[in-house]
Amino acid sequence: MSERAPVSAPVEVTQQSFEDRGARRPTLSLVLPVFNEEETIPELERRLKTFLGELGETAEVVFVNDGSKDRSLEMLKALAAENPGYRIVSFSRNFGHQLAITAGVDRAEGEAVVVMDADLQDPPEVVRDMLVKWREGFDVVYGVRKQREGETVFKRFTAAVFYRLLRAIVGVSIPVDAGDFRLMSRKVVLALRALRETHRFVRGMVAWVGFRQTAVYYERPARFAGETKYPLRKMIRFAIDGITSFSVMPLRIATWLGTAAGFIGVGAGLWAAYEKVFGSGTVAGWTTIMIAVSLGSAAQLLMTGILGEYVGRTYEEVKRRPLYLVSEEVNFGRPPER
Ligand code: UDP
Ligand code: MG
Repeated sequence: MSERAPVSAPVEVTQQSFEDRGARRPTLSLVLPVFNEEETIPELERRLKTFLGELGETAEVVFVNDGSKDRSLEMLKALAAENPGYRIVSFSRNFGHQLAITAGVDRAEGEAVVVMDADLQDPPEVVRDMLVKWREGFDVVYGVRKQREGETVFKRFTAAVFYRLLRAIVGVSIPVDAGDFRLMSRKVVLALRALRETHRFVRGMVAWVGFRQTAVYYERPARFAGETKYPLRKMIRFAIDGITSFSVMPLRIATWLGTAAGFIGVGAGLWAAYEKVFGSGTVAGWTTIMIAVSLGSAAQLLMTGILGEYVGRTYEEVKRRPLYLVSEEVNFGRPPER
């Protein structure tokens, strides 16, 4: 067990304890969320080792074990035992990708922090290009996918629609076709640590904090091994979080739907009155009533649902629970080798 309280580490505490230890801040921190990745870890380690060896910068790697049920944690611990620059923070259960990223960024000590997937879809080599941009003075360098290999047409299509929709309705400009693979300067990391909302859409939050942002382009390879840890259910939840955490636009749909329903209602009323007075006197009410009732209730149900999403989120936020619970931490505070 770690000495640190098992709650999301407050920013100041992390920073101070580090400086008090007199440790030298590494140039680069890599943050990798890991959820059932036993098949990729050996290859991941090979690639990281080669990459960091060639890079020749002081670096640490922060693995966040997001409640893996396979041998991932064991394997990571074996790596950490050999390399003091590999840190592990292990959750008490699966908290999800976005919170895993959060925990890693909360603990990363590097001057530049890069978040990347553990399945090698975010090639470590791209980090070199990111560092170049960072040295030019950019605070955020996000990786934009040129190509998506080995992903289903469905996933590609939904991703394309989602990012464009998001840009259209969300006030902040979230780069199209960028995932969570990005470099952040320490300034941005500290800003991000101050945002403690429960429903997190990290790429949107990074766009929101501002500073100088730019992109590097890369070919996104297929997942090295195993299956996606983002089934449709998680993708939908993620999409809803993305929209609701940055915009109340969906709530405005109520106003528009209500206005439209009002006009239709007035029109229908006038028509009904006209039929009554001048018409042939047929009792044709059934159809009209059915249409009015079903249209009206559909609109109301939709809006109740949308309201519910926001009320639910408000509820989650007011509970002020810690974002994630840590069961174990390994190697934090040890200086990296180089
Ligand atoms: N991941 C995680 N917790 C989860 C789901 C995924 O930490 O609940 C990690 C996973 O191990 C990987 C990254 O998040 O390192 C991205 O997941 P994945 O590759 O499955 O998503 P995709 O690339 O298919 O969108
Ligand atoms: Mg992946």
